[in-house]
Amino acid sequence: MRPEILFPLFAGINTLSGIGSKTEKLLTGLCGNRIIDLIWHLPSGLTDRRYSPQLFNARPGSVCTVKVRILEHQEPKTRKQPYKVLCSDGTDQLTLSFFKAYPDSLKKNLPVGEERVVSGKLESFNGILQMSHPDYIVRPEDIDKVRGVEAVYPLTAGITNKMLNKAIKQALQKVPPLPEWLDEHFMRSEKFPGFNQALNAAHHPQSEPDLLPENINRTRLAYDEMLANQLALAIVRERVKKQQGREIKGNGLLRKKILERLPFDLTDAQKRVLEEIYADQASRFRMLRLLQGDVGSGKTIVALLTMLNAVECGTQAAIMAPTEILAKQHLETIRPLCEEIGIRAELLTGRVKGKSRTALLQDLAEGKTDILIGTHALFVEDVTFRDLSCIIVDEQHRFGVHQRLALSNKGNKADILVMTATPIPRTLVLTAYGDMEYSKIDQVPAGRKPIDTRVIPISKLAEVVGGLIRKVEAGCRCYWVCPLVEESEKVDLAAAEERFESLKKVFGNEVGLVHGKMKEKEKDAVMEQFKTGKIKVLVATTVIEVGVNVPEATVMVIEHAERFGLAQLHQLRGRIKRGFQASTCLLLYSYPLSETSRQRLNTMKETEDGFEIAEKDLELRGGGEILGTRQSGFCEFRLADMTVHKQLLLTANKDAKMILAQDPNLQSPRGKALRILLYLFERDEAVKTYQQ
Ligand code: ADP
Ligand code: MG
Repeated sequence: MRPEILFPLFAGINTLSGIGSKTEKLLTGLCGNRIIDLIWHLPSGLTDRRYSPQLFNARPGSVCTVKVRILEHQEPKTRKQPYKVLCSDGTDQLTLSFFKAYPDSLKKNLPVGEERVVSGKLESFNGILQMSHPDYIVRPEDIDKVRGVEAVYPLTAGITNKMLNKAIKQALQKVPPLPEWLDEHFMRSEKFPGFNQALNAAHHPQSEPDLLPENINRTRLAYDEMLANQLALAIVRERVKKQQGREIKGNGLLRKKILERLPFDLTDAQKRVLEEIYADQASRFRMLRLLQGDVGSGKTIVALLTMLNAVECGTQAAIMAPTEILAKQHLETIRPLCEEIGIRAELLTGRVKGKSRTALLQDLAEGKTDILIGTHALFVEDVTFRDLSCIIVDEQHRFGVHQRLALSNKGNKADILVMTATPIPRTLVLTAYGDMEYSKIDQVPAGRKPIDTRVIPISKLAEVVGGLIRKVEAGCRCYWVCPLVEESEKVDLAAAEERFESLKKVFGNEVGLVHGKMKEKEKDAVMEQFKTGKIKVLVATTVIEVGVNVPEATVMVIEHAERFGLAQLHQLRGRIKRGFQASTCLLLYSYPLSETSRQRLNTMKETEDGFEIAEKDLELRGGGEILGTRQSGFCEFRLADMTVHKQLLLTANKDAKMILAQDPNLQSPRGKALRILLYLFERDEAVKTYQQ
């Protein structure tokens, strides 16, 4: 249960005054629909309204706050002209101008003969001082309400900074004084203010440096967030680790048979990683290990051998993929190998229904099926195993902490191996997995030819198509990826369809199209045709899943490559890294090309090393965006910025370990405060583990 003290923060923003349903909707899109979301929405700029000169020596171009007397209202003669209000402070004149004005309300707010304080940007036209649409018009006695520094927030159409300031001011008033969860000595050495003070100060920047992530108040908040993250992960890990596991140590016969049948030897990296995994399986604790390996590094065979170890012991194993296509692909690799050695592997996805599902579940419950491959459909309640001892999650970053917890409840003290294809820099491993043990396949099988990557302007499209014709004639298959324009899926689709039509004129029936809006069946059919070679050129939106395996595809064209993130480009290019023939990747770009885009494309040209690319990505974009999407589970941070707070993350990691060592159940006063911290940053799933 969420502590009562935090209730007000998790109330809806519609409980604040001045927020109607339209504003609520806009704010929800901007930052979220709860008070807490407003609280984490920090300013990105500031407007200094303290400049309060006499008009005769005021600097045009600056924002200022001045007290003036209203002299005269001038209604416009045509609709294009502004409504003007002439004023003076006794040293010079100032003209206030308003387009599309409501004369009545202006006359009321700016009565002739009276004094008012106006604040806004001062400009000078032909030597006459002007202020168009002042941000504030108040009575003289209220001057100090205006003449200060105003926070400027990231906005969205329909929301003004004034509205947001008003809403956030109310939101901040709802924050109760919270008990201190940071260590006293640490706070002193870092010179951290308390949480409430830091939060208030972060929303009231006084000068530009206050807006930087390095600012002490922001750093304190970022640390809180990172500590919540690390503590939650550490709690989950402790919980899994404390559990008794099973000593899975097969006789090696099935694995030997498989290795004899493979047309290749394992790489040294694969062998090393397997030794690490086998040791975990054999130990009497539960395994919880992360397996990292770049696309094409050969994770599937490692997964299979891990599962066979479990099968050799008379138990079952399961592998879960994030999408149906990937699950099927695992089936296609794994099943034939299993059949050869008399092991049964089955596929379970959401689409397996009715009788076949019942039969499948029965075989599973009776232990006739040794290996189950599937999507998250594997873990719905009625799926029971006779004896599941090994779970592999091929997650490609789509499963979060929640799912991992749900998973750890399945099976009989089952070992868990999480596989991930995108190389992740060390700091991000920490943020997403905490101290989960991890193994890295840092070597691709020998004999792979490097990919010839070229960066080409879209103006050379005709030549690109010409080159493609020659490739297709030589028997190559090609992916043609059209970009994701985030605002609208419709637009994406239109771009892809248009390219499909134009390529059809060249390649006729040998070009196909897949996109996210298609039904699974249609998608499968097109993919199948591409696999068999009926289709030679496959136009796709980014739906070509990470992991889709068509060894004959050796050419990839990526249109508007400048719009993709590095990690995404790397993943896409990985699709053609599988063959032993030479492959070509053409990155087509359009202007304008930002400096970051240019560097990204260059990086792609210069290296294929996923870890190098990941580091570069982190450098160019910051951790939040590294994997392109927010759903990735890597950007759980709203306040911390991995490019700046990396070092503090390591501190938070140590802090979390120390906390759990001293107070495993979070019972001490600091422990109780830390529980509040976990709820505040919505890492509650970790706290809940105590109640089970
Ligand atoms: P990943 O899942 O890591 O992207 P896969 O497991 O799909 O990579 O392997 C990519 C390709 O490399 C597959 O065709 C696989 O059979 C092959 N492969 C795996 N290990 C080796 C190896 N040691 N030597 C040669 N080829 C390998
Ligand atoms: Mg794979």
